[in-house]
Amino acid sequence: MPDIEFDRFYRYDDLTRHLRAFADEYPGLVRVESLGQSHEGREIWLAVVTNAATGPDVEKPAFWVDGNIHATEVSPSTACLYFLNYLVTRYRDDNAVTRALDTRVYYIVPRVNPDGAEWALADRPRYIRSSTRPYPYDEEPIGGLVVEDIDGDGRMLTMRIPDANGPWKVCPQEPRLLVRRDPTEFGGTYYRLLPEGKVDQYDGVTVAIQPKKERLDLNRNFPEHWRQEHEQRGAGPYPTSEPEVRAMVAFIAAHPNITGAVAFHTYSGVMLRPYDDRDDKEFPIEDLWTYQAIGRKGTELTGYPAVSVFHDFRYHPKEIITGGFDTWMYEQMGAFAWTIEVWSPQRQAGIEDYKFIDWYREHPLADDLKMLAWSDEALDGKGYVDWYPYEHPQLGKVELGGWDSVFAFRNPPAAFLEKEIARFPEFLLWALLISPRLELYESGR
Ligand SMILES: [Zn+2]
Repeated sequence: MPDIEFDRFYRYDDLTRHLRAFADEYPGLVRVESLGQSHEGREIWLAVVTNAATGPDVEKPAFWVDGNIHATEVSPSTACLYFLNYLVTRYRDDNAVTRALDTRVYYIVPRVNPDGAEWALADRPRYIRSSTRPYPYDEEPIGGLVVEDIDGDGRMLTMRIPDANGPWKVCPQEPRLLVRRDPTEFGGTYYRLLPEGKVDQYDGVTVAIQPKKERLDLNRNFPEHWRQEHEQRGAGPYPTSEPEVRAMVAFIAAHPNITGAVAFHTYSGVMLRPYDDRDDKEFPIEDLWTYQAIGRKGTELTGYPAVSVFHDFRYHPKEIITGGFDTWMYEQMGAFAWTIEVWSPQRQAGIEDYKFIDWYREHPLADDLKMLAWSDEALDGKGYVDWYPYEHPQLGKVELGGWDSVFAFRNPPAAFLEKEIARFPEFLLWALLISPRLELYESGR
């Protein structure tokens, strides 16, 4: 058995060591190669998983699995390693695994963006969206609030600042929570909220959030309806401009045996399918039916609902995403591709049937109370932190507290990780086994 645990997030060197160990221990099943190099020159590892004795991978139907294209979404890397381990340790004992690896192949890329993940997992972490390459500007940003762990306790929380014009007030039912103040209400104690951080070149009045120097989003850099910076931020100077995406696109385009794909992201506990940018009415109807059938099976096996990005997962009702992986895979490569958002803190707290991104715009107070109760019970109070005083170097007396979203939202906390990623192997197996397998027989003359 490989010496690996699934209740943690691996930094690059450990990830590399574990992948090599799989290849060393199961040479007939696992081959590890480099897909290409990241912006900072790290190898982007690809595990080719198939029974080498039954023929080369390129002659078998294939399924693509990747994770961690977004810097802080590190649990998907562990999900990929978990699946790899699931395959090699069950081969021969499990009929479905054996048939999948004898007749078909997985291409698994646990960490598409090793540079960004290394920042996220550093001892003093820096959180960015994707690649560490500065974009769109090379200059250091000037002024504004720099989000960071100012009191050095390992958490990035919220700052609560008393302000007669502040939009927040203490919730009557639960004093740790803040609720919106009615615009006509006055005379009470109100607060302004800012992310935890220090203020660069503070003028004593304004505090805007400082934009990051690294603003690429690699999941907007794929060559399907790619749009430039003024239309969609972070998409890069041209499609596949970024080495990580270029390496993926080159490999996938050269492997027409790939019939389906899952890209693991976090969070929301949902399976997302194309289109990202179009109504379901635009789908060739047979493809839509197929996607819906795969989605139903996915929900049955993973417990995650399956929805269209365009219809059910939009950051803004009047905006669409383009240049993403799943729609590119479907539209140009003809593969049934999914984006799986791992982990749902809301569902953990017992909130079912909530509307993913819409929930952040608006939700009932009862949901906040459920979330807080979950933090107290399941997370030992470490999810939502009660407010405590802090002498801020620029802003004076403030309080720190609120959700530690990195701990509770962005990835499953370590103690919950293995249980969450154990949802996926059965679906990934099924999704490869449904691939068409063409065999040619020579007829005797
Ligand atoms: Zn993501």
